[in-house]
Amino acid sequence: ISSEEITRAYIDRIDKVEHKVNAYITLTTDKAINKAKEIDIKRANGEQVGALAGIPIAIKDNMCTRGIKTTCASKMLEYFVPPYSATVVEKLNKQDSVILGKLNMDEFAMGSSNENSYFHKTMNPWDLSRVPGGSSGGSAAAVAANEAVFTLGSDTGGSIRQPAHYCGVVGMKPTYGTVSRYGLVAFASSLDQIGPLTKDVKDMALVMNTITGHDKLDSSSYNNEYDDFGKYIGEDIKGKKIALPKEYFSKGVQSEVKEKVLAVARKLEDLGAVVEEVSMNMTDLALPAYYLISSAEASSNLARYDGVKYGFRAKDYDNLVDLYKQTRDEGFGKEVKRRIMLGTYALSSGYYDAYYKKAQQVRTLIKNEFDKVFESYDLILTPTGPSTAFKIGEKINNVVEMYMNDICTVPINIAGVPALSMNCGFDANNMPIGVQFISKAFNEKTILQVAYAYE
Ligand code: GLN
Repeated sequence: ISSEEITRAYIDRIDKVEHKVNAYITLTTDKAINKAKEIDIKRANGEQVGALAGIPIAIKDNMCTRGIKTTCASKMLEYFVPPYSATVVEKLNKQDSVILGKLNMDEFAMGSSNENSYFHKTMNPWDLSRVPGGSSGGSAAAVAANEAVFTLGSDTGGSIRQPAHYCGVVGMKPTYGTVSRYGLVAFASSLDQIGPLTKDVKDMALVMNTITGHDKLDSSSYNNEYDDFGKYIGEDIKGKKIALPKEYFSKGVQSEVKEKVLAVARKLEDLGAVVEEVSMNMTDLALPAYYLISSAEASSNLARYDGVKYGFRAKDYDNLVDLYKQTRDEGFGKEVKRRIMLGTYALSSGYYDAYYKKAQQVRTLIKNEFDKVFESYDLILTPTGPSTAFKIGEKINNVVEMYMNDICTVPINIAGVPALSMNCGFDANNMPIGVQFISKAFNEKTILQVAYAYE
């Protein structure tokens, strides 16, 4: 089968289901077909092609793509066409993958349901009346609906893993520093990581191999060589020590979620792993610390959208300050404004010690707690989220309830460690349930080994 045939098959699939799922913001199907044809010609000429040659993929719309709109699902960047590509996009291009388009998301990656997109809502392919999760909801829905072989998402507090859980796909947030953030539109720079959403664990390893590596254009990029991420795939997991932190299985967790995740633990025991309950007392503090730190960083990162340098500019204004005000008032959505206000408040002098500094101290305590558990265990096993995908509109007016969706995922970003979510069953409404595997920093190989053994 040729690259062009594969690409056309995916485009046919998009034609068939996209009007129901709405995973994409921008489709680049003509470009995709041209690229596929080029690859076929290369092959016919006996030229070397890349590791992902002819694989049709898609990218969350907060990663810059040269010559292709990169909107962050915001009115602010509705017509923004970047003059350069993100490092991850360059890497995927170099391996000859075929980009089908840019995927829907919550505006500036703030949200858990994709309902904060300026353009449209994305539906959960398993039940079109439910959300796909967020903020990488388009990325998860596209994989679940077979509208791309794999996609890239970004994860600041769960935005890859929570949609993976809701849509029944595999999603991983790598160790902070593993994947270059150059060209990823910043939300909260100390937490943001790009990662893949795939159909299965082997694909995850393959994509990780292509997108990771040191990048001098990202000052927080880890300067070291990486092993093959799939190195231990297929090896048995006898003797692996797995911790079940009881705080992640407490009250608010849907009973079926608890049941299925505990069934994963039992299956791993059958495969020879040693599973033990542990306690992580700091868990409750992660959510407030996250919403303080991420909003503080967002308020600073989003200061650049002032109507002067690029993006949207308001039409009616009296003077320069008014131009800033009008532009930001009209260009940003409600949730983005909420975060900017929260962050600006937390950073203002007089409140800094009470909020931002305190949150950073809590962050250290959380990180230490993870380090401590990883002294004795290879992995931590938890649900990815307390419940399965909810109905569109159900939580839109309840901000705190929306933030609670991130309770199982944010501690991982705070600690900077890697975590993967994969499907482990379905609830009574036939909605997917995700299990989360967490490891110490730079130990994705073990996560993939155990995830593959379970799969
Ligand atoms: N839902 C979280 C938030 O709204 C996570 C977002 C993310 O990981 N980008 O902040």
